[in-house]
Amino acid sequence: MKSSLEAPEKQIAEETSAKSARGTDSSGGEPQTQASVIDTSKMSAGKAAALDLAESSRDPLDERGSFASNLFIGRFDFDRISPWPSQSAEDRAAGAEFLAQLKAYLHENVDADEIDRTGEIPQKNIDELFAMGAFAIKIPKQYGGLGLSQVNYGRAAMLLGSWDANLTALVSAHQSIGVPQPLLLFGTEEQKAKYLPRVARHEISAFALTEAHAGSDPATMSLQADPTPDGSAFILNGEKLWCTNGLKAGVLVVMAKTAPKIVNGKERKQITAFIVDVDTPGLTMPHRCHFMGLRALYNGVVNFKDVRVPRENIIAGEGKGLKVALTTLNTGRLTIPAACVGLCKRLLEISRKWASERVQWGVPIGQHYAIAGKIAEMAGNTFAMEAITFLTSALVDRKAGDLRIETAMCKMWSTEMTWKIADDAMQVRGGRGYETAQSLKARGDEPTAVERFLRDCRINTIFEGSSEIMRLFIAREALDPHLKVGGAIFNTQLPMATRIKSMFSSGSFYTRWYPKQWFGGNPGNLDHLHADLRGYLNYGASTSKRLARGLFHAMMRFGPKLDREQLLLSRFVGVATELFAISATCSFAQSKIDAGEPAAEVLSLAHYFCRSARSRIDHHFAGTSRNADQRGYDLTQELLAGKHENLRKGIV
Ligand SMILES: Cc1cc2nc3c(=O)[nH]c(=O)nc-3n(C[C@H](O)[C@H](O)[C@H](O)COP(=O)(O)OP(=O)(O)OC[C@H]3O[C@@H](n4cnc5c(N)ncnc54)[C@H](O)[C@@H]3O)c2cc1C
Repeated sequence: MKSSLEAPEKQIAEETSAKSARGTDSSGGEPQTQASVIDTSKMSAGKAAALDLAESSRDPLDERGSFASNLFIGRFDFDRISPWPSQSAEDRAAGAEFLAQLKAYLHENVDADEIDRTGEIPQKNIDELFAMGAFAIKIPKQYGGLGLSQVNYGRAAMLLGSWDANLTALVSAHQSIGVPQPLLLFGTEEQKAKYLPRVARHEISAFALTEAHAGSDPATMSLQADPTPDGSAFILNGEKLWCTNGLKAGVLVVMAKTAPKIVNGKERKQITAFIVDVDTPGLTMPHRCHFMGLRALYNGVVNFKDVRVPRENIIAGEGKGLKVALTTLNTGRLTIPAACVGLCKRLLEISRKWASERVQWGVPIGQHYAIAGKIAEMAGNTFAMEAITFLTSALVDRKAGDLRIETAMCKMWSTEMTWKIADDAMQVRGGRGYETAQSLKARGDEPTAVERFLRDCRINTIFEGSSEIMRLFIAREALDPHLKVGGAIFNTQLPMATRIKSMFSSGSFYTRWYPKQWFGGNPGNLDHLHADLRGYLNYGASTSKRLARGLFHAMMRFGPKLDREQLLLSRFVGVATELFAISATCSFAQSKIDAGEPAAEVLSLAHYFCRSARSRIDHHFAGTSRNADQRGYDLTQELLAGKHENLRKGIV
């Protein structure tokens, strides 16, 4: 079955790579970006410019795709994620000492409630964590770091996330998005030699992209970098907002606008990434921002007044700043889900303990179905979260291709599930969940800080790519193979002859690909899996075909307007993400059984998770044909236009 699937899908890959290899559009100048494939003619100028910039900074997807990206074209390559990519004994040993040290240190020396109450992380903690190497986990040893793998970094983030979110943010913003990660990816040897030893051992770093008017849409950025007359440096003017670690940092990665470029007769904005020393004259931090949670975040406004930055501090070349930011985040995004796994394990433990101790109506509350249901959901989702996050981390270590869809799914799914788990943990703890640890302690109760965990984790669905933006990002990548094969049909900016030609060439492709999406679905050889798990993979293989059909039908129905149908696309993204989670969970469960963990316990978790994920998938599919999306959209436009005045009455 699998081989019969391969021909058209191979063609998707071949057409895709042939087009990227040709790489020029009809005007023969610039490499063709998807912006010239996606029809931007009906978009507002702002949206078209934003899309143009984002697309020009996007690397084409690896033509083999990845396990998760292939789900959207009806291809279920379970053998790419199973057997589970176990951490080698050598890699485990390399991280063991540091992880044991970090665990003991957090337990003995970090008072997370006190940090939350005072809004300050003791400098002693920061110094001692630096000395331990906690700010240089992935930095190679030659630059003073620990040189550990992504999996070991994830295990450190899990420990941190289970204990203190403020420290997690400090450590993570520094090395997942701050100076180390972009320099490791794009830095010159001189830049690495100059900055990595500093940020490895004593200097905190930060990442400054957001501005007051440029949040999810960096194209509207206004921080300006102008070259000096001799071209040896740039002068930066403007302001950044919400720069995490900014107030403690010695060095920043700053994204700034540089002179625009003319591409195919049109002006395209250029964003450039600079390494900026915080003590450069003209750089000030006039305001520390305060939030609902993460009260000890050293986050602030960064002001630039004629700040001179040498040209050699540009990362990856002029105009490559957005690409630096997007690529940095592709892997950087894995730290938050790893920290979420740690937090959810802690919340599960708090809830499990309380549900077995607290007796109401004659029995422990965990024996009431309503509470038992929440705890089962916490356990199943935490298990799956660990599976997707550590599967993806292991694939990063193995350099197993382009994993941007997996990392975005990990970030989106884990942060949303964590919020639900924190909310449920608060419900399980009842009034004590809502009471602060300090107050609980003062009246002699156990100081369990569920309210702090809830406050601290809320931001995770917003920063480093909000959930909405993650869904758009995944949907964009999911449509990529189709846009490359047939996108020109929909593009009213292209000459009619090109569009007709595309209709014929893609037509022949789709007449072979489409019928295959109606038959079977083969997950490959499952002999190595426990019999109980195989059914979920068979389901995964056939459901990925249903997903591919659904997406194709939506393209036919909405054509170039599909990108506006965000709620519809989000349901397809939801299906694929749950399929990814089911598959990773089964692979993870098998690895645990193989390692000698009690099969009955492992299977009980896997069964619960896979069955609940299937009902979420049913719900997503049901919503693709029956929903109130258009009515909801119209209602919102009425509200935005000031109608429904009655709804505003009766309040202060
Ligand atoms: C505590 C904290 C720490 C932060 N740390 C950093 C940092 O270190 N460095 C840094 O550069 N930035 C940082 N940020 C900024 C953060 O990344 C942004 O808040 C985030 O990118 C969203 O931007 P915004 O808040 O302006 O929301 P907006 O972009 O204004 O979005 C508002 C809402 O609209 C949604 N939305 C926006 N566009 C679309 C669309 N096209 N389709 C559908 N929905 C859409 C968003 O998802 C969101 O729900 C931080 C923010 C906070 C609060």
